[in-house]
Amino acid sequence: MSSEASKPDSTNDLHSSNAIDQFEIIEQLTKDFNDLTEKAQQLLTEKLFLENEYSQLKKRVNRLDEELNNIRTPPLVVGHIQDIVDEQAVVRSSNGTVFLVSINMRLDSNLLKPGARVALNQDSLSIVEVLSDSWDPLVSGSEIIDSPSVSYDSIGGLDDQVNELRQTIELPLEKPDEFIRFRIEPPKGVLLTGPPGTGKTMLAKAVASSTNATFLGLVGSELAQKYIGEGGRMVRELFDLARQKSPSIIFIDELDSIGSRRLDTATSGDREVQRTLMQLLSEMDGFEPIGDVKIIAATNRPELLDPALLRPGRFDRIIEIPIPDSSSRESIFAVHTKNMPLSKDVDLRKISAISDGFSGAEIRSAVIEAAIISISNGKRRTSNKHFIEAIQKIKSNKSQNDGSQSQGLYS
Ligand code: ATP
Repeated sequence: MSSEASKPDSTNDLHSSNAIDQFEIIEQLTKDFNDLTEKAQQLLTEKLFLENEYSQLKKRVNRLDEELNNIRTPPLVVGHIQDIVDEQAVVRSSNGTVFLVSINMRLDSNLLKPGARVALNQDSLSIVEVLSDSWDPLVSGSEIIDSPSVSYDSIGGLDDQVNELRQTIELPLEKPDEFIRFRIEPPKGVLLTGPPGTGKTMLAKAVASSTNATFLGLVGSELAQKYIGEGGRMVRELFDLARQKSPSIIFIDELDSIGSRRLDTATSGDREVQRTLMQLLSEMDGFEPIGDVKIIAATNRPELLDPALLRPGRFDRIIEIPIPDSSSRESIFAVHTKNMPLSKDVDLRKISAISDGFSGAEIRSAVIEAAIISISNGKRRTSNKHFIEAIQKIKSNKSQNDGSQSQGLYS
């Protein structure tokens, strides 16, 4: 009886221990499942990250491949179209040689005009790109973006010359209708002649600033180029830019460097300079109406100029700017000392009397020198004595230079 009574107990124990085991197994499996799910999630994130990195690296490889290809491709030669013959073009490459080459068919034929700047394949020299619309850096750099700040008030002793220049350049720009009414053609160009430092550049800048015209300033020697046709092209571009930015004033300083008398016995360099001059003459004759583009040129050596430049319709007004006389020197001294603290004893008339032969530029140097002398002596004002000392210093520099340099035309 007692053994029967104990039987159900052991069966119960067995059942309960089985249940515990199963519970533990389920718990373990759940834990494993959770761990694996978490790990799978991590691996998924890692996969996404690596995929992203892979695509980044692939892009980089493509970019580097492209760069490598660019480095390996030979450069294109830059040239200019001279003529179009049927489906081919006559081009002058940048080293000066002329070729008849083929044209890439996908290029817009309207852009392929004589004078256009193009890129040429290095081997076949065929035109692969049109690079027009870009000005030569020398030409685009000639534009003085801010209208020059020189006013007529800052020019001393040149009243007659200022008046003449205003009549010739300013009046036609300001009252073009009046010139049409009177049926007269305004002068196209004015030539300023005179010794160095007498204010020729200043005058041109003053006209530009008083008319609000674009000022395109170049030195003639910049137009004298090494390669055949380059100078002429630059002159053409200069006038094109001036027309585009009109009203404008082209100022060519040192005109003699491209405008010298043409000689029969000329070297190839001279001939290139002459071609540049011819281009200047033809631009001035104006196959296209010159409109409100005015030309001011300056030279210290007018006797060297080609007479063709001085014919009517070109530089037909010549304004001579001489070395200032005593009263002009006084005006120039007054301009340059206007804002300077001066002692009461300063007499500009006497100072100008002792600076005989000084150009405007030398007067400005004398004023600067006098101010430096007073500052170095610890003075608050510049006195007569400082001016006399400064003028003597400039005079002795001048006589040393005159001795070492060839006698100038105007000396
Ligand atoms: P270059 O022939 O050497 O080019 P330039 O005749 O063009 O000389 P500028 O460059 O106009 O001379 O003048 C040089 C400087 O001299 C000017 O910046 C100005 O300070 C001074 N100067 C010359 N003439 C005058 C003047 N009449 N009034 C005031 N300043 C002057």
